[in-house]
Amino acid sequence: MLNLNDAALFRQQCYIDGAWRDADGGGTQRVANPSTGAALGTTPRMGAAETRRAIAAAEAAWPAWRAKTAKERAAILRTWYELMLAHQEDLAALLTAEQGKPLAEARGEILYGASFIEWFAEEAKRIYGDTIPQPAAGRRLVVVKQPVGVVAAITPWNFPNAMITRKAGPALAAGCTVVVKPASQTPYSALALAELAARAGIPRGVFNVVTGAAGAIGGELTANPAVRKLSFTGSTEIGRELMAQSAATVKKISLELGGNAPFIVFDDADLDAAVAGAIASKYRNTGQTCVCTNRLLVQAGIYDEFARRLAEAVSGLKVADGFEPGSQQGPLIDEAAVAKVEAHIGDAVAKGARIVAGGKRHALGGTFFEPTVLADVTPEMAVAREETFGPVAPLFRFDTEEEAIRLANDTEFGLASYFYSRDIGRVWRVAEALEYGMVGINEGLISTEVAPFGGIKQSGLGREGSKYGIEEYLEVKYLCMGGI
Ligand code: ADP
Repeated sequence: MLNLNDAALFRQQCYIDGAWRDADGGGTQRVANPSTGAALGTTPRMGAAETRRAIAAAEAAWPAWRAKTAKERAAILRTWYELMLAHQEDLAALLTAEQGKPLAEARGEILYGASFIEWFAEEAKRIYGDTIPQPAAGRRLVVVKQPVGVVAAITPWNFPNAMITRKAGPALAAGCTVVVKPASQTPYSALALAELAARAGIPRGVFNVVTGAAGAIGGELTANPAVRKLSFTGSTEIGRELMAQSAATVKKISLELGGNAPFIVFDDADLDAAVAGAIASKYRNTGQTCVCTNRLLVQAGIYDEFARRLAEAVSGLKVADGFEPGSQQGPLIDEAAVAKVEAHIGDAVAKGARIVAGGKRHALGGTFFEPTVLADVTPEMAVAREETFGPVAPLFRFDTEEEAIRLANDTEFGLASYFYSRDIGRVWRVAEALEYGMVGINEGLISTEVAPFGGIKQSGLGREGSKYGIEEYLEVKYLCMGGI
């Protein structure tokens, strides 16, 4: 069914210690296309024993990988990056088939994913230490940075390619080795990356991919003392669990968890730009990104006009299978995702919200849903507190800047936030007052490999991408030389 130019990119086995492997008992799990429900294939259902072997392989591979010069590691990563670009079409097709996003978005994700490998290949050569002026005669103080060791990466289904490269790129550049556990819904993007890693010359054991039982694999990754660092992207609930599990072996941790992104439109905003930004930030990946707008806070003076323009723009979005030309909204990942969207709409409507666009399952059936806009939404409704993770834009009304900031910050999450205003004083005040790791100002799409991505409060720990991203995979070592 999947017609790839390079059929060897479609792998149905795990990649451990440089070899393609089945689960010990031969067990498998099915992978389906969320658009059609049709089977794409299977992957091994591995557990703790196979994970232990992958960790052992990564541990054994570490000394030689660490010992390479940064320039040598950079050259190998650069080759991996170039292979990703060369196979962009196949990687995008695999991604759309297992994840459902429109092919144009999948192509974009491959470029975005590859950009982390390119960026960190470059950063590998810039892991600088420090010299510190001596506090006493006869001593010299130096700080060096060293790779933390074996890294476990647990990744979600919404960006099956980029969430892996954003972790593996800096880890490998720093001199760490990696065991990846991709989401069970989207393993083929991960396995294709392993195939390309092998072709790029990444030595055996340095990059491993294990699929299967999340709890058993996660249990081993967090309990095993050889794993020195866990990097997780996914739900806040699982993130908390993994953090607790990692406490016993005191691992370094990076967490990219849920969000509840506000998108504030002030009276003085450029409304057309705000509508375009809202569409980009809310409906990308059918609303299934952790930086997707979850709440639109709109100032009273322009509320009705903004609602009208947004509803019109949303009604024009093309809902279709990701492979259909012009598709802008693919299916949701599964039935549970649709149920959550329906529950949020039902709860809001029962408490007085109005549906001004969409509102129900799409005529295409399956997990397709109509892009939806809700007006007259209030803080008592579930959409105010919970991440919908679907194509629903709830419009809240506010009067003053102080009220907007209070509403925006009234959540335990703190990942992305957005606002539209042309008043330079307000831009600074609001940007500084928002309790979020990232702020888009007159901009709805802010992710790039050159900037630090990450959240505060219960949205997570650490940053990915940028010059900061590599620090997560490095230990600082202080050398004190006496007797000089
Ligand atoms: P989502 O709700 O987006 O599926 P999850 O947090 O459930 O997010 O999943 C993110 C990643 O975490 C996936 O790779 C999933 O398989 C994995 N995962 C889920 N439960 C566990 C667990 N108990 N231990 C380790 N990994 C888990």
